[in-house]
Amino acid sequence: MKTATTPTMPVHPLANHRAHDYRALVREWRVLAKEAGLKMQAFARVGGQLPVYVLRTKDAANDRRPTIYLSAGIHGDEAAAPWGLLDWARENVALLREGRFLIFPVLNPHGLILNTRADQDGADLNRSFNVPEHPLITVWRQLVEGREFSLALCLHEDYDGQGCYLYELNPRGPVVGHAILNDCSLVLPIDQRKRIDGRAAKGGLIVRRMLPEMPGHPEAIVLHLMGTPLTLTFESPSEFSLHDRIEAQKTFIRSALEHGLRRG
Ligand SMILES: [Zn+2]
Repeated sequence: MKTATTPTMPVHPLANHRAHDYRALVREWRVLAKEAGLKMQAFARVGGQLPVYVLRTKDAANDRRPTIYLSAGIHGDEAAAPWGLLDWARENVALLREGRFLIFPVLNPHGLILNTRADQDGADLNRSFNVPEHPLITVWRQLVEGREFSLALCLHEDYDGQGCYLYELNPRGPVVGHAILNDCSLVLPIDQRKRIDGRAAKGGLIVRRMLPEMPGHPEAIVLHLMGTPLTLTFESPSEFSLHDRIEAQKTFIRSALEHGLRRG
């Protein structure tokens, strides 16, 4: 007698994906931290004791190498950024072991859980980096101050975005953003607007040699003021598919490391 077989359903790449499940994301980072030899620490607690984590290369006393700074999840409604960072890290364990890194996987966990831009106090964390009395920023500063960064990547998304775009804060070196966006264009279109968020853009790139006037400082500006030679803020378009946005974020990190560290 023949038995009926159930056809096997193909597994979608986002099966079981939980974009706003902070605890799941933290669990994944814990596993990864062990594999990659990174120290993972809750450096702050926000809104009802929610831990905020940092991962860093275990410090060796004689290690003078500049650090690569990676951060995501300042805005909680930009889920592809933290998941893209995690996916990139999973695929680059050897690189994480070799290099020197400081990683903030989700700076606004309250926002991620609630799918909101603002933090637990209703504030835009990315306009608070020059507010010395901000409790999270105070401890963030203690972690970054005195370090030399070779490159800083800040990962974001934009619901107005018509494609990927990039802010390049680059006081000295040759522009790298076009080459990076070229790589990202294989995954998602590049935002071709001539003005993005009130600033002149070309092929999705907004280059800043000088500091813009802003009432509240974003993370990138503070990293720039600390002397970081290249700070890149990437934006993927939130209205596109989550899978593609995560891929775009991964592609950005890979390409930014390749082009950003190779220059001069
Ligand atoms: Zn953002």
